[in-house]
Amino acid sequence: MLAIVESCTLIGIDGYLVKVEVDVSSGLPGFEIVGLPDTAVKEAKDRVRAAIKNSHFSFPGQKITVNLAPADIKKAGPFFDLPIALGILAATGQVASEQLYGKVFVGELSLEGTIQSVSGVLPMALSLLRLNKEAFVVPRINSWEAVLAKGLDIFAAASLNDLIDRVSTGNLEKVYFKQDENKSLENLPDFSDVVGQDAAKRALKIAAVGNHNLLMVGPPGSGKTMLAKRLPSILPPMSHDESIEATRVYSAAGLLDKDNPLVTDRPLRSPHHSASAAGIIGGGRIPKPGEISLAHNGVLFMDELPEFRKDVLESLRQPLENGLVTISRVAAALDYPAKIMFIAAMNPCPCGFYGDHTKECKCSEYQIMRYRNRISGPVLDRIDIQIEVPRLSYEETRHNVQQETSKDIRQKVIMAREFQKKRYKDTSINNNSQLDSEGIKKWCMLDGEGEELLKASYDILGLSMRAHHRILKVARTIADMEQKNRISVENLAEAIQYRRMEHEN
Ligand SMILES: [Zn+2]
Repeated sequence: MLAIVESCTLIGIDGYLVKVEVDVSSGLPGFEIVGLPDTAVKEAKDRVRAAIKNSHFSFPGQKITVNLAPADIKKAGPFFDLPIALGILAATGQVASEQLYGKVFVGELSLEGTIQSVSGVLPMALSLLRLNKEAFVVPRINSWEAVLAKGLDIFAAASLNDLIDRVSTGNLEKVYFKQDENKSLENLPDFSDVVGQDAAKRALKIAAVGNHNLLMVGPPGSGKTMLAKRLPSILPPMSHDESIEATRVYSAAGLLDKDNPLVTDRPLRSPHHSASAAGIIGGGRIPKPGEISLAHNGVLFMDELPEFRKDVLESLRQPLENGLVTISRVAAALDYPAKIMFIAAMNPCPCGFYGDHTKECKCSEYQIMRYRNRISGPVLDRIDIQIEVPRLSYEETRHNVQQETSKDIRQKVIMAREFQKKRYKDTSINNNSQLDSEGIKKWCMLDGEGEELLKASYDILGLSMRAHHRILKVARTIADMEQKNRISVENLAEAIQYRRMEHEN
C-alpha cells in the first residue's frame, strides 16, 4: 500500500514543501529511504523504527520504501521522522490515510515515540501560508512560534501515540497566539545609566539616525561595551514585518523563547572574539544562521575587534556590503539576511593605554601599528564613524547631571529618520549610510565654505576620497538631525572629527 504525507524542510530561512511517499509491499523485509543525505538516513530509520515499536504499533516486516520528493530540494535536519512514521502507519492501515490528508507534519521522534523540537518551524509555517496550506502539525514545544504565522491552523503534537489518538478521533490540539506584541523597551538597558561620555553618546545618536557603522577606540573600562549595549534602546521600534523577519532567523537557529516567541526588540549580539567564522557568519553541517544574522534588523557588536580571527574579519566584508550572507553548500547556496548596524570596539594599542592620562603605554610603535593593521582594509572601509572613548577622570564619574533617557533620544532619532525618509521617498534608499557616489553628489551639497573645509581636510589631513564619501554621508545625517536640507560647515566639521583613524595613520 502507498501512503503520502506532506512535510516541510528549511533552506536558509525559507520553508519548502516535501512529499513523503511511503510504500509498504510484500517482498524481502527492508527499510529504505531515498531523497535524504546518507548520514541522515540511517539515523532517521533507527528512530522511526524504535518510535513505532515503543508506541505499541506494529512495525511491518515487509519491504518499506520511503521517497522524499522533490529530489532536487536539499533536505537536512530531522524534520521527517514524524511524517515517515505516519506514512508507515497509514500504509499498513494503522491510521486512516484520509485523516492525514490536508495537513503538513514535521517533528523529530525520540526512540520512545515522543515528538522532539525542530528548528525553523516559523519560517516553514510562513511558507505554508503562502502555499495556501491550512493545517500544520508541529512538535508541541515549537507550537508557540508556529502560531505567529497568522491564518494557518497550528496543531501541537506531543507523542506519536497521542497524535494518532487525536488524528483518529478528529480531536487535534489547536494552539492559539497569545503574546502581547506591545511589551517592549522596558527591559532594555537605558542610556541614562551612562555617566558622562557625551561625545560618544552624540556619535551613537548620529549612527542611529543614519544607520552608520561605528568604531569606538578607547582603553579598557572606558564604557565602550556599556554604550554599545544601549544602542538598541534608541533605535526606532521594529515594524511588524521586521519583527517577523528577525523571528524567522531565531526560529531557524532554534533560539526562540517559548513564552515570548516573537522578537520585538531589536537584537544586540556580541560574540566573543574567539568565535569561529561559522559561528559569526553561519553555516555548519545542518546549516544555522550565524551571529551576524541573529543581529538582523539590530546591532552586531564586536568588542576587541583586532582580536577576532583573520578569516572572521575577512568574511564580514560581503554581509556588511549587501546585508546578506550567502553560504555555499555542495548542493546549493543558501542565504541568511544580515541587515545590521555594525558596532566595533578596540583598545588603542595591545596594552590598552596608548594616549591614556593615568597609565603609561608599554607598547612599541611597531606593536601598535601591527595591532591596528589587523582591521585595516575591508572592515574599516565599511565604518562611517570612528570615535575615541577615553576613560573618565574621577571628577567626571561623580558628575551629577540628569542624563538624557533612551526614550527621549529615541524620539529625536525617529524624527530625524522621518526627515531622511521624505528625501528618499522615491528611491530604494532607506538611510544615509546607503548613499552611493551618485547619491552623495545629489544630496550632500555643500556651500562655498564647506567646500573650502573639505578641500583643506584633503590637503592638510591627507584624507582619502573614500573617507570623503563617509564624511559627507555623516554630515548629511547631522544636518538631518537639525531638519536642514543643506549641510552647514559646522555639520561638516563635526563629521570630519569622526575619521579619527585616518588622522593618525
Ligand atoms: Zn599600549
